[in-house]
Amino acid sequence: MEVAKLYDFIFSLTNCYQSTSDRKSLVDGFYRAFSAFFTICELRIYLMDEYSYQLKDFIKPWENLSLNDENSEVRNYFDNFLTKKSEFEIKDNTLYFPLAQENKTLGIIKIKSREKIQQKNDFIKILPLIKAQCSMLINAKKNDEQISVTSKFHQTLKNIAQITQTQYDLDYILPILGEMIDRFVCEHLIYIFIKNKNKKEYKLIWPSKCSDNEIYDYLEEINQNSKMIIKREGKMGIFPLIVDSKPYGAIVAYNHFNKITNKELDYLDEIKAQAQMTLSRAKSYIEVLKHATLDALTNYNNRHQFEKRLKETTAAAKRQNQPLCCIMSDIDFFKRVNDTYGHAVGDCVLKNVAKTIKKELRESDIPSRYGGEEFIFLLPQTNLDEAKVVAERLRSKVEKKKINIEDYKIEGIKEIQVTISIGVSEFKKTDKNPEILYKKADSALYQAKESGRNRVVVSQD
Ligand code: GH3
Ligand code: MG
Ligand code: MG
Repeated sequence: MEVAKLYDFIFSLTNCYQSTSDRKSLVDGFYRAFSAFFTICELRIYLMDEYSYQLKDFIKPWENLSLNDENSEVRNYFDNFLTKKSEFEIKDNTLYFPLAQENKTLGIIKIKSREKIQQKNDFIKILPLIKAQCSMLINAKKNDEQISVTSKFHQTLKNIAQITQTQYDLDYILPILGEMIDRFVCEHLIYIFIKNKNKKEYKLIWPSKCSDNEIYDYLEEINQNSKMIIKREGKMGIFPLIVDSKPYGAIVAYNHFNKITNKELDYLDEIKAQAQMTLSRAKSYIEVLKHATLDALTNYNNRHQFEKRLKETTAAAKRQNQPLCCIMSDIDFFKRVNDTYGHAVGDCVLKNVAKTIKKELRESDIPSRYGGEEFIFLLPQTNLDEAKVVAERLRSKVEKKKINIEDYKIEGIKEIQVTISIGVSEFKKTDKNPEILYKKADSALYQAKESGRNRVVVSQD
């Protein structure tokens, strides 16, 4: 074998590893490197799953291999490698060789070539070297993934702990909690249930649907001393949320195919503990906040206070025969901000948008945080044309605002910009109740979103 060819090959094999890329690109890299020796028509890597003792496709580790002849052949050869009966196997156009490290057989590589594979192929000659190199690269990939899971896990715990710094409304906290856990736990379906106070039955909070009705029966088993409940031969884990010594709800993780591993159970258990603490803190805040009027993050009126002010301002407008308008705003693609930079940056954006808008309002205007990233403004003594001008100004100011996020130490990013969509409506004396005012603004806002975002739509009703 030419030295230059060998050198090129080793170089290309080493180079196909990039810690940032996924498993598929690593396999593609092997494919390219091995092509120096064969005209490959199929290259597959299988690894032994330590928990289920089954071979799994390296690219799709969550799937079980189907029980066909091809796969049982792979399994047979793997068993031969395991018992050291052979170093490699050739069958017509296909070569199999083991992946091993420190004497432990980790898996098997299958290379199917267009031509018959000869025992004298250069590849076979240097197989020990290739085996060692491939095994090392695959292990490195697995380690990288593990490190990234651990760091994502700690980030999730931190995020959950932070939720209540800005949100006290359980209707908002619970779906955010669901979202965070879902982002961390990719291989399982995640459900969150909360116990109805009076009816004592469990209600689904996250995601929006669960057609698996048996789960509700399992939830009935929860009592105040419950730890984790394992069902369906280890494929489902139920983590009761016990708040103030009472069953409050549960996080359920389920994987149709595989048992939840011990490591995953540990992770989920810790996430549950953090969620319990967050919920218990939120509940005590709620008691205190029953008396509050302002939202802690934005300093705007809270939802409860908004409803009060809405009644007062609509009554005054009617009485004094003065115009009254309502502006409703919602940050565009805000979920992306959270997903990309984390919830703390999301909060910082919310705060800054609120501040930017506040500067543009009159003293007599009434700003409120309606929920999440939706703000609502009541503009007394303002007609629809004027309100439209104000709305356009708010939209444009927010669009231009560069929000400084240096404190969050995100590599390469010092500031971000967001846009808002706006719906505007005017109160009519014929409107039957005060709520109609913001419902009209809300549907105009919906149209603004539908027609492309970062725009103002005025309600015609
Ligand atoms: P669009 O409105 O343009 O349709 O997209 P969006 O991504 O903004 O839409 P959606 O209403 O689905 O998402 C709003 C997100 O706001 C979901 C939730 O995670 C986030 N959110 C709600 N309240 C808070 C909060 O107090 N802090 C942070 N950081 N995020 C929040
Ligand atoms: Mg929204
Ligand atoms: Mg939004």
